[in-house]
Amino acid sequence: MAIDSHMHINSIVSKNIEKEILDINNNSNLKNVINVSLNSETAKESIIISNTNAKFYSAVGIHPLYIENQSINDLYNIALNEKVVAIGEIGLDTTKDNIELQKKYLIEQISIANALNLPVIIHANNSNKLVIEIFERYIKPKEGCVFHCFQPDIDDLNYLIRNNYYISFAGRITYKNAKKSVEVAKSVPNDLFLVETDSPYISPEPVRNLVNQSSNIKYIIEKLALIKDMGYLEIEEITTENTKRLFKKIN
Ligand SMILES: [Zn+2]
Repeated sequence: MAIDSHMHINSIVSKNIEKEILDINNNSNLKNVINVSLNSETAKESIIISNTNAKFYSAVGIHPLYIENQSINDLYNIALNEKVVAIGEIGLDTTKDNIELQKKYLIEQISIANALNLPVIIHANNSNKLVIEIFERYIKPKEGCVFHCFQPDIDDLNYLIRNNYYISFAGRITYKNAKKSVEVAKSVPNDLFLVETDSPYISPEPVRNLVNQSSNIKYIIEKLALIKDMGYLEIEEITTENTKRLFKKIN
């Protein structure tokens, strides 16, 4: 059974949330999902869902694009919940020009993760190297991390491999122009990658024109099986094991 290691149920229209929860709970191919928050409001909503649905786990954190008017003071307490498996998603995004403030939030949130013995989920948009620089100069996530929706670069990948950090593949790997991601998928060791839908964003082929949902994790697994010349069930099994190894609180 698969684990969707990164999805945002609180980003879909609220009237559809109950239906997606039901679909996930009834999907016998999905073992778990990690519902990732973008700010403290979605963190609280994510925990309510996780506390009442066994398959759901939560990641809590403030996304670099949403740090305005967000305080991280209550993040520590929110993250104490037993269904919280990671701090995330946190990171750097160069589409906004407040990088210095983003760095401050990133460093502070990694230190909360380290204090709570939690791994972190990294969002690095056009900024793998900037995040790596933060790790090297200021603080490393001591319980590990995953670069979610990894933007392909072999040098950056090699740094992550050397440090036993993970990457995850989302819908982009299914696109025709994903040559660099295919290279990365071929090079990444089998014990260092996860799968995710990032739903409701980045729908994979062949459902690219529809709103993304966790059940689409199968298309990402299928594509990775093709690229790595492995069986579907093999990819499913190793990514589930990898996800449980990184996010230790998943049963
Ligand atoms: Zn995301």
